[in-house]
Amino acid sequence: MSDLTLILLAAGNSSRFKVPVKKQWLRIGHDPLWLFVTNRITDMFPFAKIIVVAHPDEVAFMQQMCDIDIVCGGETRHHSLRNAMAHVDTPYVLVSDIARACIEPDLIMRLIDAKERADCIVPTLAVNDTVVYGEKTVDRASIKRIQTPQLSRTEMLRTALDTPHDYTDESSAIVAIGGTRHFVEGDIRADKITRIDDLAALECLGIPSTMSFTGNGFDVHAFEEGKPMVLGGVQIENLYGFKAHSDGDVAIHALIDALLGAACMGDIGMLFPDTDENYKNIDSKVLLQRCVEKIHNFGFMIAHADITIIAQAPKIAPYKEQMRRTLAPLMGLNLSRINIKATTTEHLGFIGRKEGVGVIATASLHYFDWING
Ligand code: MG
Repeated sequence: MSDLTLILLAAGNSSRFKVPVKKQWLRIGHDPLWLFVTNRITDMFPFAKIIVVAHPDEVAFMQQMCDIDIVCGGETRHHSLRNAMAHVDTPYVLVSDIARACIEPDLIMRLIDAKERADCIVPTLAVNDTVVYGEKTVDRASIKRIQTPQLSRTEMLRTALDTPHDYTDESSAIVAIGGTRHFVEGDIRADKITRIDDLAALECLGIPSTMSFTGNGFDVHAFEEGKPMVLGGVQIENLYGFKAHSDGDVAIHALIDALLGAACMGDIGMLFPDTDENYKNIDSKVLLQRCVEKIHNFGFMIAHADITIIAQAPKIAPYKEQMRRTLAPLMGLNLSRINIKATTTEHLGFIGRKEGVGVIATASLHYFDWING
């Protein structure tokens, strides 16, 4: 049994990453980057335990995709690492960032081979550019660029992280409490992906799958007198609205379920529980926007949506165009990719008796193409 645990930090916000998709969710084939990197590194060495640290909003979805232990991250890298360390029970721990996507086995072996030499083993690279500090040119031979993964003695790292100071790497925290660090040669391929352009230089990454995904959604709401009617994001002139916890926009609810279905992300009730007071009378357009933001975050773009409104009353035809123009921008969708249809039930059933409205929606997604944008 190995004496080494692997921790991979994937809880970042990707704030410098100027695309709708979060860095850790860019797809390599079907795998999000975090899973691709995890599988790649775990194939290199028989780690005793593997821990991936996730953004609090993403833990459940990530856990659904693998059997690896997913731990909830904190406000900063330091906090995230501290959370993960609570789950480590081996004498040594190897910590890396998911954004260092193309780490090679040689680097991992250099760190493991040197593990007895100090409290923290650190890969470094020389600096090739001229370096200045204030007005003074510094001898660049004395400067080192620090990378991860770093291999640390578990107890030393645990003690070192027990500080309010926010360290950006393990070795700085360990040295600050009097621990030792040993440098080994780093690898340019272990450099961090910070901007979308950085990806093109990384040879280990395959291209995202071009497959598309379809989901369906269905919802029904009964009429309620004296409430304004909102359908497809549009105010409808009518004597009654829909009975609901939210504004009752049954078309948007079906559309959200179609989008979540295509992304395999559950359903509207899981995302916005109707027991939550925050969603009481909420504008369903806000729910749609939040759902789209989540879908984008997780690596998908919306390709198409089709909505069928089944209503004996009110008349939908005069509002169809306005619905398309309201919903398309909320999904970042070209107007030519959204369709609204309306039909009746020929006076049959509860819809025919004008007791409520039903909506069926279909939506298609594809992965964000990080190569062509
Ligand atoms: Mg509903």
